[in-house]
Amino acid sequence: NEPLHIVGGGMAGSEAAWQAANMGVDVVIHEMRPNIKTFAHRTGDLAEMVCSNSFRSDDDEQNAVGLLHWEMRAAGGLIMEMADRHRLPAGGALAVDREPFARAVTERLVSHPKITVQADEITKIPESGQWIFATGPLTSEGLGQAIARETGSDALAFFDAIAPIVHFDSIDMSRAWMQSRYDKGDSEAERTAYLNCPMDKDTYEAFIDALIAADKTEFHDGEDAPYFDGCLPIEVMAERGRETLRHGPMKPVGLTNPHQPEIKPHAVVQLRRDNALGTLYNIVGFQTKMKYGPQASVFRMIPGLEDARFARLGGIHRNTFLNSPTLLDDRLRLRARPNIRFAGQITGVEGYVESAAMGLVAGRLAAAGMLGRTLPPVPQDSAMGALIHHITGGADAKTFQPMNVNFGLFRPVDGLKGGRRGRRDRYKAYTDRAKAAWQGWLEHVRHGAELAV
Ligand code: FAD
Repeated sequence: NEPLHIVGGGMAGSEAAWQAANMGVDVVIHEMRPNIKTFAHRTGDLAEMVCSNSFRSDDDEQNAVGLLHWEMRAAGGLIMEMADRHRLPAGGALAVDREPFARAVTERLVSHPKITVQADEITKIPESGQWIFATGPLTSEGLGQAIARETGSDALAFFDAIAPIVHFDSIDMSRAWMQSRYDKGDSEAERTAYLNCPMDKDTYEAFIDALIAADKTEFHDGEDAPYFDGCLPIEVMAERGRETLRHGPMKPVGLTNPHQPEIKPHAVVQLRRDNALGTLYNIVGFQTKMKYGPQASVFRMIPGLEDARFARLGGIHRNTFLNSPTLLDDRLRLRARPNIRFAGQITGVEGYVESAAMGLVAGRLAAAGMLGRTLPPVPQDSAMGALIHHITGGADAKTFQPMNVNFGLFRPVDGLKGGRRGRRDRYKAYTDRAKAAWQGWLEHVRHGAELAV
């Protein structure tokens, strides 16, 4: 029998291999380390955590990443099993003793009778066979070029430049307003495409001072400063001249503040709708290297964003990722080549947990296909499904940037109160609905696997 080939034995590739092998499919993992190194990995182990040792919140009732932990545990996920086994005390977060964790994942996979691990670099997209590419943010150069040839170079990015993303329900609409510059577009979607926050001169000057003074992160060795035109960090623009932002992303033209129509704002911060649901807005042009703590404080100086909750903060990193909304279907297959799947961070999710989650789904879907079973799409109301739906359809392809799991990706639950007080109930309703949807999907997989034996 032809095996399933998985390229990359990181978070996603390891989980994909485990899931597919446990469904009865032979798997070959092609991992280039230790022969070929990346600037971030230190060992030859599979599932190496390259930076922090945290899987973030483990709260499966009030936090979307905690819910993803729950869904992976329910699916017998190897990454979660080993993270739990090598857990370190960290309050409500799941911190992991990284070296024993990666060694344990490696041992489990290497000793699995259905899995072979080969130390080789893949640099081509093969014509035939079933493949999952899970080569992560530091995909090797040769493979990056091969993917770009396959997808078109516009559809593969080598750096992310992420502007902060804000939950709509945390924006003070008594200060902000919706309007497209020069009132372009008449449809409801176009009218709600942009949201504006006005600044007077004093607020603007204080904001520029804060941007320049804030602590910034440095690029890692070997990461190369990726400042390309149109994508400068906002603080670098501010350093080039105090008026630069007022003539760039914060220009106050073509907009009228309905709360104070007689006063022309000195500057305007624009936010653009980030998902079809309208629950998330990104701050246009505000990609940044500010550290997370200072970044949140600086952005909360913007009128209307004083109580902003961030679905994700801004950043600029070395990160190879696909324009998944145009390239992948809802089963993580390349639309043009269904024998090729992608999983992990290269699909445009962000983080250890999200990457492992995409590996879990890709492994199961690929194995089911090889066993002649068709699974229903991953339900959109699960955390897995919300993420997949976002990267393969919900996000705007033109401005697509990597995304963490968060409740802004979930369809609203009807009949619940908005605002701060209703939030606990809302999150509990999301997580209850997600767990039921995910368990239903797992039942289908289980049934399919039994039939195949
Ligand atoms: P990886 O875990 O990177 O695995 C990809 C694997 O593919 C690697 O083992 C690589 O060697 C292999 N590979 C690449 N090209 C080839 C090829 N051509 N042939 C064969 N093998 C290949 N996430 C967090 O949640 N927290 C953090 O603190 C954090 N810090 C980060 C710091 C840095 C510097 C970087 C680059 C990323 C960081 N991330 C962090 C993101 C994190 O790396 C990913 O979320 C996660 O590891 C992605 O999982 P993955 O399986 O998609 O990729």
